[in-house]
Amino acid sequence: MSDKHSRKVAVIGAGVSGLSASYHLVKNGLRDLTLFEKEQSVGGRIKTTRFGNAQVDVGAQFFLNNDSKIWSIVNEMNLRADCEEIHGFLSVYEREKLVPLDLKHAMMLTNNKEKLELIKFAISSLRINHNDTRLKEKTFMQWYNENIGSDMLWIFDSIFKSLSFSDASEISAAYGLLLSEVLMGKSFTFREGMQRLTNSIKDYLGSNNTTIYDHQEVTRIEIDQDEHVGITFGDERTEQFSHVISSVPSSVLSKLLDKNRIGNLSKIRYRSAKYVVLLAKNRLWDNPTDILFDEREVGFPLIVDESSKLGKSKKALFGVIVRGKESQSDDWIVDTVSQRISELFPNKSLEIINSKVFTWKDAMPICNPAMHRIQETVNPIMNRLYLCGDYLGYPALNSACESGELAAKRLLATSP
Ligand SMILES: Cc1cc2nc3c(=O)[nH]c(=O)nc-3n(C[C@H](O)[C@H](O)[C@H](O)COP(=O)(O)OP(=O)(O)OC[C@H]3O[C@@H](n4cnc5c(N)ncnc54)[C@H](O)[C@@H]3O)c2cc1C
Repeated sequence: MSDKHSRKVAVIGAGVSGLSASYHLVKNGLRDLTLFEKEQSVGGRIKTTRFGNAQVDVGAQFFLNNDSKIWSIVNEMNLRADCEEIHGFLSVYEREKLVPLDLKHAMMLTNNKEKLELIKFAISSLRINHNDTRLKEKTFMQWYNENIGSDMLWIFDSIFKSLSFSDASEISAAYGLLLSEVLMGKSFTFREGMQRLTNSIKDYLGSNNTTIYDHQEVTRIEIDQDEHVGITFGDERTEQFSHVISSVPSSVLSKLLDKNRIGNLSKIRYRSAKYVVLLAKNRLWDNPTDILFDEREVGFPLIVDESSKLGKSKKALFGVIVRGKESQSDDWIVDTVSQRISELFPNKSLEIINSKVFTWKDAMPICNPAMHRIQETVNPIMNRLYLCGDYLGYPALNSACESGELAAKRLLATSP
């Protein structure tokens, strides 16, 4: 029997990173794998739910044409035919018209710190045809990586400020341009909702002898002298494994470990988010992925259209993300969002049939050490415990998926 077959491995958490880790372990021949998930279904921050006639993703909604780690799994699992390209623009709402966001509008909307960055951006992009304010030649991400590098803290702060609907000075033009780039490129979703991806990985694992336990909350992780990892569950039961991969958010993980093993984990902050989905009789504009800016807000406006077509599929895109309104009731949020949308489209009536607010407690990690720096600093003291999750990189599906693959590779590269 080869080394990898004598390992007894547990993966904690069945979001996309934990599923990716499990997928790569199994694909590479690991036999004894158990996955523990706290909730009743897999997916984590991918969550597809039915609303009226439509499928709605209230977590991650799309991935990009260059999200190579997601595409590898999609292709290897023959899921390409279930994907659908989506078309969207980031738009400024101006005189009752949606105008694609350009540099001028971005400058109008941004705060001083971002204005400075945008000026640097403009200077560094002189080669660009000035009529093409979408900066196709040099993408925002390229520029960003060259000029700002891995210190992403401020931009993610800005993102979350921009996702509130309260204060114009906090609207992040940098985020606007980032998203413009993102949405100008090709983006994709699953016709039946993003959970098609996570459910498919779950099925693959199930048919390869991996046991997935749902409703199994891990409450403690202990690494003993012999370097075995003990996992304790909500019912006080403890089980021993030779190796463990944790895919839970760092805020959760730091509570599961001894204080002296936490290291940098405790420095990562998370923002919560609320996602508002409105079921309306009518659609107010054509493009389902238009994203509105005006001088007061930015949002991803709804709208599940009860009456008719949701494009080729039954899939509805985008709710409104709101931030910093935890103290407000869901009713207040729905009323406020509805009112703002009615103000933006004064000549059309918005008839809402139903609404729902979803709360994500640990929605977005506000950190970005260079990819896997955290893993490197904690690994020496956490031998046999491997980490994955979007907090190790960029807070998006592809990076979560990549972190899972890397954790699997690291684990398989060590001796049993
Ligand atoms: C509203 C929203 C919209 C987004 N939109 C996009 C998008 O369009 N495109 C994109 O690329 N990214 C998007 N993202 C980001 C993307 O969803 C995340 O980066 C990704 O899903 C994170 O995956 P993960 O596996 O690292 O974490 P998670 O998905 O959070 O998975 C962690 C899992 O661990 C489980 N768990 C937690 N504690 C325990 C415990 N003690 N015991 C056992 N299990 C536990 C959780 O239940 C969960 O299933 C969005 C995020 C949000 C919140």
